[in-house]
Amino acid sequence: MMPLTEEKIAAYLERVPVCVRNESMAKRTSFRVGGLAKLHVTAPTSEALVAAISSALDLDIPFYVYGGGSNLLVSDDGYEGVMIQAANRGITVEENTVHAESGAITGMVARTSVDKGLTGFEWAVGVPGTIGGAVYGNAGCYGGEMKDAIETVEVYDYNLNIRKSFSNGECGFGYRESMFKHRPFLILSCVLRLAESADPAKGKERMDEIMRMRKEKQPLESSSAGCAFKNFEFDDESALDILKRSVEVPESMLKNKSISAGWLIDHAGMMGQSVGDAQVSTKHGNFFLNTGKATASEILALISRVKMKVRDEFGIELQEEVQYVGF
Ligand SMILES: Cc1cc2nc3c(=O)[nH]c(=O)nc-3n(C[C@H](O)[C@H](O)[C@H](O)COP(=O)(O)OP(=O)(O)OC[C@H]3O[C@@H](n4cnc5c(N)ncnc54)[C@H](O)[C@@H]3O)c2cc1C
Repeated sequence: MMPLTEEKIAAYLERVPVCVRNESMAKRTSFRVGGLAKLHVTAPTSEALVAAISSALDLDIPFYVYGGGSNLLVSDDGYEGVMIQAANRGITVEENTVHAESGAITGMVARTSVDKGLTGFEWAVGVPGTIGGAVYGNAGCYGGEMKDAIETVEVYDYNLNIRKSFSNGECGFGYRESMFKHRPFLILSCVLRLAESADPAKGKERMDEIMRMRKEKQPLESSSAGCAFKNFEFDDESALDILKRSVEVPESMLKNKSISAGWLIDHAGMMGQSVGDAQVSTKHGNFFLNTGKATASEILALISRVKMKVRDEFGIELQEEVQYVGF
């Protein structure tokens, strides 16, 4: 990337006075790695988010919008532009709909919905980060996915400089997929449609149970970005020919037409492998950990090594779930 000129930086700082220079992205991401963002804006309102983007566009400064930073791997060289963090955290509940601004913390949205006597979003209690990030990647776990709860998503189309609202069916949701990954949209807010709960105490119990299961199965004590890879989805079992020659594939995975990436990594013998301070968890094969002072390059090298091993052993090409920034 071309270095930002001092003139552009000064002009941006004048237009967006809350912007700071040289912000460590290691401090802002759950991986705890990454260099400096040349410019950084924390936007507490939707208007501030739009203004931060508009100014970047006017001045021809590259920008990247993020939320909790829990699904990002930022380059050791940082980001030569402005990183804009959505911190518009409003949550309002009306009857059985929840309106959440994009910077609302996903776990808070889940807890608020249960406190207000609603059910259907308990699964999200342990998903780190913001609801904007969750919509972007159609986050999911424990049988739930954003696409099951979303009624509408409001965006700012920064190419056309207009706000738009999309119904669930227009969002292009798939497994860890949405159209927001492919369009010039800033997610501003979303509306979730949930059901009234006959027994709100049950919702709280379910959330406690989910948090217990997460602690048991995931290495939450170390820094990570959650699952590094998507599970491998297939239409035709011929895609598993090489895999089936060496390993017995569980019936449940065949039935769901989805092979767990963590299971593949485990069977490829890669759990516990490391490059510097980057390590594949020994508890969950799809969690790549920063065990101390890992660099983004080390994590990237480990991701590539695991990807190659799984491809060479099983003929399966894993796709990253984690988003790369500044590479
Ligand atoms: C310990 C741990 C456990 C996890 N468990 C799960 C899990 O169970 N299920 C799951 O699906 N994920 C899981 N994740 C991954 C991650 O938490 C989710 O993907 C989460 O929804 C990302 O939200 P975020 O705000 O942190 O997004 P960020 O990491 O900040 O951003 C992710 C992507 O979303 C885009 N984005 C964010 N906000 C906006 C916005 N307002 N407008 C446009 N684009 C935006 C960014 O540009 C980026 O490409 C886990 C992560 C960790 C660290």
